Amino acid sequence: MTDTPNDRYDAIIVGAGIIGAAVAFELAKKGYSTLNLDKLPASGYGSTSNSCAIVRAHYSTYDGVAMAYEGFSYWKDWAGYLDAEDERGHALYMQCGTVLFMLDGGHHEKVLPLFDQVDVPYEVWDNETLAERVPFFEHGTHGEPCRPEDDRFWAEPEGELIGALFTPDSGYVSDPQLATHNLQRAAEAVGGEFRFNAEVADVRRADGRVAGVTLSDGTEIDAPIVVNVAGPHSFVINRMAGVYESMNIKTRALRHEVHHVPSPAGIDYEDDGLHTSDSDLAIYVRPESGNNILIGSEDPACDDQVWVDDPDDYDNVVSDAQWNAQVLRLARRMPTLGVPNEKKGIVDLYDVSDDWIPIYDRTDLDGFYVAIGSSGNQFKNAPVAGYCMAELIDAIENGHDHDTDPLVVTGVYTGLEMNMGFYRRNREINPNSSFSVNG
Ligand SMILES: Cc1cc2nc3c(=O)[nH]c(=O)nc-3n(C[C@H](O)[C@H](O)[C@H](O)COP(=O)(O)OP(=O)(O)OC[C@H]3O[C@@H](n4cnc5c(N)ncnc54)[C@H](O)[C@@H]3O)c2cc1C
Repeated sequence: MTDTPNDRYDAIIVGAGIIGAAVAFELAKKGYSTLNLDKLPASGYGSTSNSCAIVRAHYSTYDGVAMAYEGFSYWKDWAGYLDAEDERGHALYMQCGTVLFMLDGGHHEKVLPLFDQVDVPYEVWDNETLAERVPFFEHGTHGEPCRPEDDRFWAEPEGELIGALFTPDSGYVSDPQLATHNLQRAAEAVGGEFRFNAEVADVRRADGRVAGVTLSDGTEIDAPIVVNVAGPHSFVINRMAGVYESMNIKTRALRHEVHHVPSPAGIDYEDDGLHTSDSDLAIYVRPESGNNILIGSEDPACDDQVWVDDPDDYDNVVSDAQWNAQVLRLARRMPTLGVPNEKKGIVDLYDVSDDWIPIYDRTDLDGFYVAIGSSGNQFKNAPVAGYCMAELIDAIENGHDHDTDPLVVTGVYTGLEMNMGFYRRNREINPNSSFSVNG
């Protein structure tokens, strides 16, 4: 690559969240001079900082499962993958395992054949095994998810789980912001640069391709490659670049609440609990430090979806109604759980695509790429997505016609083939998606 003066780079990456930092690391390793620009004061301070950082493989499509399974290995080998020190230490991979509850018509029916195809290690537990391994869970099923305001919420269970699908390799990352900082340090160690408090206000073009960006203070920085990794602001950057209308799949920001409750007395959920996907009650939970439990939502139809037009202006206070709904849903599964008076949790934005599957692609503007639409489910895939984006950008910049001949990337750890055409911007909406955080 070229020897670049300070205001010109081979690639500008808009955003320094977990995916933007991963794209930088992988491009820098290939010899590209990279600059990440972020309007916040440090890496991973955007939606990444509030991520639950759960690492699991139960997606609804072959491609979704394959990429997530390849992603496991990056987290298990985090220090080896980074090959760089961080003065703040490395984020830890907490390999607690996942249980996906099985019920008639449940998500496991899609997932099991995909696990077999991809060769994801798993165990099928019956309810006795479930009771032995995680004794704190009730096994009732409750029909279509509803809200606590609905009398049906309080009715006796309608039926029973039919066991659980256990994946021993999954877990969560101890600190998503630190993991991003680790990637920043790794990218810097191979020549990548980061600039903070730097807001991109315009994406410039010249001679039919992208030419660089202009910051809100008027600074112009040039690059023949610009990558939009702006998380919930992805649609704003696409509009700046003039590519928003040309993409078949669009992205929008969705408000999402996650709640933190203490483990019930006598239960050490931090050490004995695991990540749990409960589509019967439309929640997911995982252990959290301080013997807490973190509760997220699978966005059931009965809950209002709050789409946000301006990602810089949304209500970031935990609401009484959603706190009650999510905590009471877990209390149905874990009857000894109390509902604390003090609400604790976070509110942040998902960058949701039309089919809850990300867009990892080029655009109609030559040199302008997108790694967007992470739909509340791509923290885990950030390192592998960074690798795939670097392969894609490098192939296209060297003449590959990805639109007619989609690039297939071979996973470094598993050797699995990942067809990047699956993530293209002009796909039809994928009918196999769960249209939820499960992807
Ligand atoms: C509450 C919550 C829970 C989640 N839980 C999980 C989970 O358990 N597992 C999982 O795999 N995924 C999860 N996700 C999703 C995952 O966290 C995201 O997919 C991932 O963090 C997105 O990373 P990113 O780098 O694309 O975006 P972000 O981290 O949002 O980074 C984008 C960056 O772009 C910057 N930016 C935006 N506009 C501009 C501009 N004009 N100029 C300069 N900079 C700009 C922002 O400041 C921001 O730092 C969750 C997400 C949320 C919100």
